[in-house]
Amino acid sequence: MAEPTQLAEIVSLTALTPHTTELVLRPVESPLPFTPGQWISLQLPVGDHPPLNRAYSLAEPPAPSGHLTLVFDHVPGGKGSGYLSTLKPGDRIPLTGPYGHFVLPEAKTQHLLLIGRYSGLVPLRCMIRSLAKQDTLPSTTLIAHAPTPSEQLYHEEFTALAASQSNFRYLPFVSESADAPVGTVEVIKQLAGNGRRVTPMIAGIKAFARPLRSLFMDLGFDRREVKLETYD
Ligand SMILES: Cc1cc2nc3c(=O)[nH]c(=O)nc-3n(C[C@H](O)[C@H](O)[C@H](O)COP(=O)(O)OP(=O)(O)OC[C@H]3O[C@@H](n4cnc5c(N)ncnc54)[C@H](O)[C@@H]3O)c2cc1C
Repeated sequence: MAEPTQLAEIVSLTALTPHTTELVLRPVESPLPFTPGQWISLQLPVGDHPPLNRAYSLAEPPAPSGHLTLVFDHVPGGKGSGYLSTLKPGDRIPLTGPYGHFVLPEAKTQHLLLIGRYSGLVPLRCMIRSLAKQDTLPSTTLIAHAPTPSEQLYHEEFTALAASQSNFRYLPFVSESADAPVGTVEVIKQLAGNGRRVTPMIAGIKAFARPLRSLFMDLGFDRREVKLETYD
């Protein structure tokens, strides 16, 4: 069944890095429960055949306020993200959702291996915050890619979490190319090679995510064991 459309009011827009913005929305009609890792669809009044539907992952676990927190990167010439940058508090946009199966496994996992590039870190951050809040963070490694040092999304937050929780490891990488650098491949081989059991979850654009899924498959993982969220 299709999810109902409802209006949401813009609560705030906050720059997180020079090229990413956090957008907080308040659904006007009814609360929108969701599972960390899921996304919502915004119907934007732009493009050749409006509305232009654009998907955005939730960045914060469900909050008592009912607010929905999204983060978008400013795609050069991007119609959707360009429009979002022009919004002001009090503006209203239609949305539907939540959608998606990129969520944490129900069964207890030995080691969670989360890998994200740039805004692909958004759903992973939501999961990590939700687990940390409930004190149920399993042994977890987060591999986080950014295109430049100033675009390292949530760098301070992940660094602080790694310092306070011995079961959380944060491995940041900076590389302009979407290809995972040798360092990332080596870490994955160490953690997931030789039959070691980890639960891999990868998010970002296809050029980043798909080769990494192939790497896990080369290491003996079944395609379905590697959860993927691709943005393009
Ligand atoms: C399930 C899902 C969840 C998503 N969650 C997020 C999110 O949390 N934050 C977010 O910023 N975007 C997210 N996206 C992507 C988002 O829906 C838009 O595609 C993105 O904002 C670009 O739209 P645009 O109209 O501005 O650019 P378009 O004019 O559609 O240009 C897209 C082109 O920009 C490049 N590009 C650069 N950054 C991105 C990006 N983030 N996503 C897609 N393409 C990109 C790609 O090469 C692509 O070809 C998600 C997409 C999906 C399918």
